[in-house]
Amino acid sequence: MDQWQKDLKESIHDVDSLEKVLGVPADPIRDIVKEYPMRITPYLLKQIKDKGDAIALQVIPTVDEAYPETGCEAEDPLHEEKDSPVPGLVHRYPDRVLLFVTNQCPIYCRFCTRKRFVGSPGTLTPENLDKVVAYISAHTEIRDIIFSGGDPLMVVDKLLERILSALRGIPHLEIIRLGTRVPGTLPSRITQAFCDMVKKYHPLYMNLHFNHPDEITPEVTQACGMLADAGIPLGSQTVLMEGINDDPQVMKSLMQKLLAIRVKPYYIYQADLVRGTKHFRTRVEKGLEIISALRGHTSGMAVPHFVIDAPQGGGKVAILPEGTLLHIDDDEVIVKNYEEKIFKYPQPKPTKSDKIENGLPLMTSQDREG
Ligand SMILES: *Cc1c(COP(=O)(O)O)cnc(C)c1O
Repeated sequence: MDQWQKDLKESIHDVDSLEKVLGVPADPIRDIVKEYPMRITPYLLKQIKDKGDAIALQVIPTVDEAYPETGCEAEDPLHEEKDSPVPGLVHRYPDRVLLFVTNQCPIYCRFCTRKRFVGSPGTLTPENLDKVVAYISAHTEIRDIIFSGGDPLMVVDKLLERILSALRGIPHLEIIRLGTRVPGTLPSRITQAFCDMVKKYHPLYMNLHFNHPDEITPEVTQACGMLADAGIPLGSQTVLMEGINDDPQVMKSLMQKLLAIRVKPYYIYQADLVRGTKHFRTRVEKGLEIISALRGHTSGMAVPHFVIDAPQGGGKVAILPEGTLLHIDDDEVIVKNYEEKIFKYPQPKPTKSDKIENGLPLMTSQDREG
């Protein structure tokens, strides 16, 4: 057994152990964890300084997860099951698919979009892998696959390699992406053997999940460094959450720390409408405020896209703060920068092939004078 498997075995998953180590009363949350399992790795437990801190809030079950149906939430708000042509595969966008490798995760995030099934037994079977390979082989428009779950790094190297090599046999499949929270929660999983194995399957990208600057520790820095040294471009995904990271300064610090460990911030997600997670949800304006506080104020490399994954399978929609493009017409464009200063960019004359749409409303002279 590898060290990471031993670490995983020592994780906390019952409420009585949680009460013993962190003083969280067990009885109120006993039924919650029957519905939605808990797991806290020994590494993550060490990072919890207080049972109300930003790391603790992501993994400690609370009674807030149980409440009467609200009507606007669902078990599967993104309709992933409706968009699934073969078991384990979601095909929503024209040229890329999502593959569920396993239902297991290193920790069970209380805000998880897939709260409905994570933690239950289940890993991609050889029969289903064959079906996935057959489906992708028959759909030559698919050029990108994202391994998800659960967390695809929860399976042993041998199985992950079997899946990678089966897919690499498909000529039109250009890139493989692994979506994982492992480097930030079970860094011992990132071994040299793992890096040596995955780098045989380039071009391969990884998108890591981080929500708070306190998650960037020396162990995480080392794990990300090993992955980057294996030539894997690293991106990050962050979920915007009330009381955890709904603060421009906290997000700025997170994005800067990610860049410093060679992880390029990719997405900030508006929290999904998942049953049992409403206490984490912020208003959308908060995300826009965060993007405004990043753009121009720090490295452009540190600014992710802010997206809403539209309910009912509408897919990701990137949304931007209003009012940076103030006006556009045949002659000029007027823009506002991060300091709210206004600039004019003269346009080249339209050619016959340019179809000028009637753009944005004209500015008033008062706006122009700022
Ligand atoms: C997020 C997602 C993708 C990947 O989207 P990108 O914007 O390309 O990162 C693909 N399929 C599904 C179902 C997704 O939810």
